[in-house]
Amino acid sequence: MKQLLWINGEFVGTEKYLPLNNPFNGEKIAEVAVASDDDVLRAINAAESAAKTMANMEAYKRAEILQKVADLIQEDREECARIIAEESSKPLKAARAEVDRTIMTYSFAAQEARRIHGETIPLDAAPGGEGRVAYTVKEPLGVIAAITPFNFPMNLVAHKVGPALAAGNSVVLKPASQTPLSAYKIASCFHRAGLPAGALNVVTGSGKSVGDVLIKDDRVKKVTFTGSPAVGKYIRENAGLKKVTLELGSNSALIVDEGTDLVKVMPRIVTGSFSNQGQVCISIQRIFIHESIAEEFTALFIEESKKLKVGNPLDEDTDISAMISFNDVTRAKSWIQAAIENGAELALGGDSDQQVLNPTILLNAKETDKISCEEVFAPVVHINTFNEFDEAIAKVNDSQFGLQAGVYTKDLNKAFKASKALHVGGVMINDIPTFRVDHMPYGGVKMSGTGREGIKYAIEEMTELKLVSFKLD
Ligand code: NAP
Repeated sequence: MKQLLWINGEFVGTEKYLPLNNPFNGEKIAEVAVASDDDVLRAINAAESAAKTMANMEAYKRAEILQKVADLIQEDREECARIIAEESSKPLKAARAEVDRTIMTYSFAAQEARRIHGETIPLDAAPGGEGRVAYTVKEPLGVIAAITPFNFPMNLVAHKVGPALAAGNSVVLKPASQTPLSAYKIASCFHRAGLPAGALNVVTGSGKSVGDVLIKDDRVKKVTFTGSPAVGKYIRENAGLKKVTLELGSNSALIVDEGTDLVKVMPRIVTGSFSNQGQVCISIQRIFIHESIAEEFTALFIEESKKLKVGNPLDEDTDISAMISFNDVTRAKSWIQAAIENGAELALGGDSDQQVLNPTILLNAKETDKISCEEVFAPVVHINTFNEFDEAIAKVNDSQFGLQAGVYTKDLNKAFKASKALHVGGVMINDIPTFRVDHMPYGGVKMSGTGREGIKYAIEEMTELKLVSFKLD
């Protein structure tokens, strides 16, 4: 299959194409268009003229298009899940869950499109403001560049395209090179749903070359990016005065306090650690467990993790499959090895077969080991113990990242203490840091990024507040 670019409401060819291979078995899935600079400029031109149409479109019409897209994805649920599984090696069970979340995200976008509103301002609260009536409106920004990663190729596109269109903007989307097909599928759904030509454009090609054209073009009013901290920093430094939202990585931590029912919480902890091969920005990477239950926890965690079925992402019962690239397997294994050489104990896994890295558990890694202080983004977790609860909080906070953290405790005081003291974008009490539903505010502090997603919150960042003041005669 030849995958063309999607510009101004139609699939268009270009000069260069690159093969896209299935990460699990290396089979070629498609030949994907590599956009030239001129292609990207054409996409921006199309988005610029469609921005006017979108800004004038009634809220209920934007809502109807978004809801129609949610319905079309529902109709094509299985096809969508297979696209995700094939191009990213996300096991089918998880791919279906992602499709269901994508439907939810566009449904929330449809709802939020109808309730974007400003407020009245009592200008006479200040001397000089007498005799005036004022209100605010939220106006679309215009052209938004959306750059997305490979790990949730459909739902993270929805988290950008959904709120952008709900607010009356137009979009140029640059999906990850390994997962373009999910994005093109969504573009065809929007076309079928009646979105005006040019309101959504999809351009594929290398992040640096496509990204640079998008980031540097003055007609692009905002860049919304989800991906690695290094690229996020580059975008921030090169986007000029554009608005920028950055949803970046983390080394998420979980505290498990004494008194926790380990049997009850264990399936969730295993899922949060190894789902999508640990390639989730809020995947559990660091576990801090009260020393009184550490032995029992570790034994149970290893036992449950061993039950995970490793295999082809298209098999119904597969839990763990290939990582996104061979380089990432090599990188993760070298970090595991370095931690072991520095004193950590390998309790499970550590080995790989082709691009599949088996679920790996390490004990007592040092905070300075890369496996702990960098984002591992692989099925690799390490367990350390604590005695005092404050010590566990300090260890979680001892990180350059701060996306979400989880705390299991039966002690209400400790729960409140943790919610206040943890320096992250979201604290999950009696849950794993990996918890997310698509309408909640979501984003990080420190190197985990700036800005928030979750449809309503993303719309705030994709609109401009305008004040209108009427002076009465
Ligand atoms: P990545 O390598 O940073 O790539 C993300 C996107 O940026 C891709 O579309 C990539 O294109 C593009 N890109 C690469 N270099 C660029 C440049 N110089 N300018 C503009 N765009 C550029 O990240 P990834 O490996 O796909 O995803 C994993 C990362 O995403 C992890 O760090 C993870 O934690 C983070 N993430 C964060 C969240 C969140 O909500 N906080 C959610 C999911 C993932 P190419 O594919 O063509 O290189």
